[in-house]
Amino acid sequence: MSYQQIRLPENGKLIGVKNGKLDVPDNPILGFVEGDGIGPDIMRASLRVWDAAVAQAYQGRRKVHWCELFMGEKAAGLYEGDFFPGETLDAIRQLTVAIKGPLTTPVGGGFRSLNVSLRQEMDLYACVRPVRYHDGVPSPLRRPEEIDVVIFRENTEDVYAGIEYESGSDANRKLADFLRNEMGARFFEDAGLGVKPISPAGSKRLIRKAIQYAIDHNRKSVTLVHKGNIMKYTEGAFRNWGYELAREEFGDILVLEDDLWNLHDGVMPQGKILIKDRIADIMFQLLQLRPAEFDVIATMNLNGDYLSDALAAEVGGVGIAPGANIADSVAVFEATHGTAPKYANQNKVNPSSLMFSGVMMLEYIGWNRAAELINRAFVEVMKQRTVTYDFARLMDGSTTLSTSDFADALIARIHA
Ligand code: NAP
Repeated sequence: MSYQQIRLPENGKLIGVKNGKLDVPDNPILGFVEGDGIGPDIMRASLRVWDAAVAQAYQGRRKVHWCELFMGEKAAGLYEGDFFPGETLDAIRQLTVAIKGPLTTPVGGGFRSLNVSLRQEMDLYACVRPVRYHDGVPSPLRRPEEIDVVIFRENTEDVYAGIEYESGSDANRKLADFLRNEMGARFFEDAGLGVKPISPAGSKRLIRKAIQYAIDHNRKSVTLVHKGNIMKYTEGAFRNWGYELAREEFGDILVLEDDLWNLHDGVMPQGKILIKDRIADIMFQLLQLRPAEFDVIATMNLNGDYLSDALAAEVGGVGIAPGANIADSVAVFEATHGTAPKYANQNKVNPSSLMFSGVMMLEYIGWNRAAELINRAFVEVMKQRTVTYDFARLMDGSTTLSTSDFADALIARIHA
């Protein structure tokens, strides 16, 4: 495949996919999109940390060959105003695994979110956000070490699907007439209208991935989070389809919460995984008061968006929380925060969200030793209380480091 602006590194090899499993060479080409705002600062720092960990873990036997891909403002400069070039999507498909910094999205107008477009165009249907406590990180909770949750957020449906009709537009009037006259719906004049599609196929593939993750990683429970008491045929249906799937495909390994009490006296049978559901509003309370009760969570797009930021706040904030958007094999890892434009090019912010997304990426390609080196280095750097400004304001007696100095501190520990 030939590209206009993208240059594949000559010495790297493409990752293959065999029988649905990744076939990763020792010199894989991985894609990266720098991102807008603080993106370049955190990407520069993170690339150095990932490379140092791989070099230390494998002593030259393995090396990532990075390939820069373009989206957002940098792309617009290179592709005559195109923020979302088709060749970047082609390259992600060809490379299979990529990582990206944050991208700007205007509110209430302008173009559609590039992040949402990417997830939908590539059908990256599972947004995976692990949230766990790292020793030494400032937290408002008394027992933050109880948080070890992985959120599977559906990425392609819900109100995020972009089916919206602007107040006053012809399409809006047509739909409003149909809803009022043919369906008997009642709502205020000139209301903007949005559609919330939730399908059995979309729900089940997401919940299947969450359950499979729980099985593969020896997790204890999967919780379906929904607002099905109010939105019965979308959120409620998500829950029902989840239980249907659990019974049909995982009946030998999952125990339903009702059965736990009816059949097992409340004691989980050895080697089984509990599947339960909770309503979204109470879930926000439970994750603050009793986080130890939750393990893997599967939910729809909007609930997942709110929940993952709220949970991240309990263990250090969005500056540290990692994420990935995963299809059946293609995966795009990403910082979960935005472009924080007021800090752009100041070498100031915390690179950890992107850096830990890269740790997830290293685990995804099976390079666990390199990932573990970064995890351990991070704990050591926290112990020294040398942190970026966001943590410094929560930690008495800490030393504030720039983005690049924080990366240097990690690299020094990786080599120690
Ligand atoms: P934001 O960029 O995430 O920033 C909000 C605040 O979070 C910042 O002012 C800062 O807090 C803190 N923060 C974010 N990243 C940090 C980091 N790496 N280290 C330390 N603190 C960090 O959210 P926003 O201001 O709502 O959004 C700005 C733009 O980003 C918008 O265009 C939005 O659409 C876009 N966005 C993109 C993505 C994505 O690409 N995945 C996600 C969300 C938003 P303090 O001010 O308290 O220091």
